[in-house]
Amino acid sequence: MAATSENGAKFSYTAPAAADRTSMTSRIWAAMALATLFVVGAVGASAALGDSDAPLRPARTEVLGRTISVSTSISGPSSSTSSSPSTTTTVVTAATTIITAAAAQPATLTPGPLAMPSPATPVYLTDTTPALDHVPTTDKVIFLGIDDGLVRDPAVLDLLRKERVPLTLFLVREPAVDGKSYFQEMQSLGSTIQAHTVSHPQLKSLGYGDQQKQICGDLTDLQNWYGNRPTLFRPPYGEWNETTRSVVANCGLNAIVLWRGATNDGRLDLVGETFHPGDILLMHFRTDLLQNLKLVFARARAEGYRIGRIEDYLGTGPAHPMFTPAR
Ligand SMILES: [Zn+2]
Repeated sequence: MAATSENGAKFSYTAPAAADRTSMTSRIWAAMALATLFVVGAVGASAALGDSDAPLRPARTEVLGRTISVSTSISGPSSSTSSSPSTTTTVVTAATTIITAAAAQPATLTPGPLAMPSPATPVYLTDTTPALDHVPTTDKVIFLGIDDGLVRDPAVLDLLRKERVPLTLFLVREPAVDGKSYFQEMQSLGSTIQAHTVSHPQLKSLGYGDQQKQICGDLTDLQNWYGNRPTLFRPPYGEWNETTRSVVANCGLNAIVLWRGATNDGRLDLVGETFHPGDILLMHFRTDLLQNLKLVFARARAEGYRIGRIEDYLGTGPAHPMFTPAR
């Protein structure tokens, strides 16, 4: 795994270490296993085993009100076995029934206890296109920005289903499209999708035109993929200059989002010993994200802080069923 640190390490598009699979996929596989067992018991093992060229069949199902398409590999019988076509139909029907039952479980879309309610009014910022490492508030609230999108751990989705806290995802273009189903599910759990350039360059080395291509070049795609146009921008490596600020403003983005704390390998580095009101943290979609999120949640609970939606505090957030919009 190439380093994806915002602080100096070169960014590289190495293939994600974790597959982009949601727990829905896990449930599908579990359902398939059950269905396969059923068939084995009914018609004998030769009908269900030994076919590696299984066809792909699309299935549609509901996840938290969002219709998604998934492809499932059906273990149908090979032509050399004695099973009949009707056996294959039984497999599909059984699997589909079980998937629907699992997806139909009511989803709780209320924010978890650790989630901060939206402020009655957004904070007042005097700067035009401010660059923020924290939100000026006295509320005991922190904000989590998760960057890049390269490693997409299904266990993180499980944690978010349990905690129901908002995250702000600053995605680079390629992982944003490769991991669309993963991030869409995260979005349904309260997260928002924001901008982090097309290909993660060091912006200060680029002129206006190239910065514009990097910062503005994927905003329409992100809007098409995720339904909302980004309103916030996080510069790779935290490097930016006044050209960046001009481009960000001209692209219709409202703020440059930096950080005042970061997590790495299960370690939390802050300015000082404890959280401060409004702290923004830097985190990454890496293999250590689950561990880091658990650490931050535990520290927030211990210090009496909650996790807020930075978009709500800045008055730039889209409406979300889990959170009352700030305006
Ligand atoms: Zn980054």
